[in-house]
Amino acid sequence: MRGFFAGSTLVQDSPQQAQHTIAPACGECGLYKTCKSPKMPVYGKGQKGVMLVGEAPGQEEDDRGIPFVGKAGLRLRASLEGLGINLKRDCWVTNACLCRPVKNKTPDDSKVDCCRPNLLRAIHEYQPKVIILLGGSACRSLISYSWKDNPGPALRWAGFQIPSQRPNAWICPTYHPSYLGRQNSVLLDRMFDNHLEAAFALKSVPWDTVPDWASQVEVLLDTEQAVRRIRDFIKAQKRTAVDYEANALKPEYEGFKILSCALSSKTLGTISFLWNRKTAEAMEGFWFDPAIEKVASNLKYEDRLTRHFYGRRPRGWFWDTMLAAHHLDCRRGITSVKFQAYVLLGVGGYNDHIEPFLQSSRGKKINEAELEIEPSQLLQYGGEDALYEDLVAEEQIKKMETFQQDR
Ligand code: URA
Repeated sequence: MRGFFAGSTLVQDSPQQAQHTIAPACGECGLYKTCKSPKMPVYGKGQKGVMLVGEAPGQEEDDRGIPFVGKAGLRLRASLEGLGINLKRDCWVTNACLCRPVKNKTPDDSKVDCCRPNLLRAIHEYQPKVIILLGGSACRSLISYSWKDNPGPALRWAGFQIPSQRPNAWICPTYHPSYLGRQNSVLLDRMFDNHLEAAFALKSVPWDTVPDWASQVEVLLDTEQAVRRIRDFIKAQKRTAVDYEANALKPEYEGFKILSCALSSKTLGTISFLWNRKTAEAMEGFWFDPAIEKVASNLKYEDRLTRHFYGRRPRGWFWDTMLAAHHLDCRRGITSVKFQAYVLLGVGGYNDHIEPFLQSSRGKKINEAELEIEPSQLLQYGGEDALYEDLVAEEQIKKMETFQQDR
């Protein structure tokens, strides 16, 4: 594919993960031709191990070759000084775009994408434990990389402390200081200071060893083996996350079919199996035992499918990660398992390759998942969904307990 990355060279972004990033031959965006300080180097001594990422240099920064020395810089420095932090001594400072855009225009996505390898290289070189993203361009640059999606506006992200696995650093998005200047809101100013304070309080990288949760999913294509493992879950009566994959959103649609199911619990592991007469029979003992506390994401889906299939209500619902996410933070677009697994566990884009097949398209109610996804891939995906639901629920429960103690 040719696009922004045309004429690219390969650079390695981290030796541990041996991930390769396509870097544009820097300069493709053309901004270096119109500014005085092209490809502005990272600034600061970084004594606290924190990297700040802004949008792009403005005129004063470009004139002096130093980031954040203009109006937005004054605003940022004032907040940091209030926390006893000196920008130059304690931080490394860089931008999503290293060159000043013409007339200080907000860089469009292609310019941010083009400059991302420079940010990744800086992260690789300096190994910050915390990366504070100031505003939408910085979010676009790093969250697209670690979450593999279009992140949307910074307001969706501000205030999260993301234990990112890739890179292994806390990613802490917040507002851009110029936005604060335009809003002139005491509340936003206060939140900005709180976000900075919380980010600087983080003590070390989030992961001693980056977890490999995907490898914990037992993909059980063999029915007898699946039935045996389902019975383990029923016997243990432990809290369990449960997730169906089906070929439509509503069981009433003609041709509707449950394709697979997955169970995940801290003590019993994660299993994912195809839905057939024998596994469905075995699952009766799970669904109707009220002593097994059940966790799901948007549990009304699992509830509805189960009621439709067996003709009676499942028992023992305990936690819905979607409702809990909304209860903890009522912003839009943040309640899916995918989003929550990223902000709470630092897992990026685990389902990007499968998700399109699970959505019905071209006005059809039935999706093509059964035809287009390899069974083992479907089970791996369903298993990870259940596993992350379980882990997300655990994190949410901890957060709610802290909330209650703080009151
Ligand atoms: N705004 C930014 O985002 N970066 C700078 O360096 C200066 C202002």
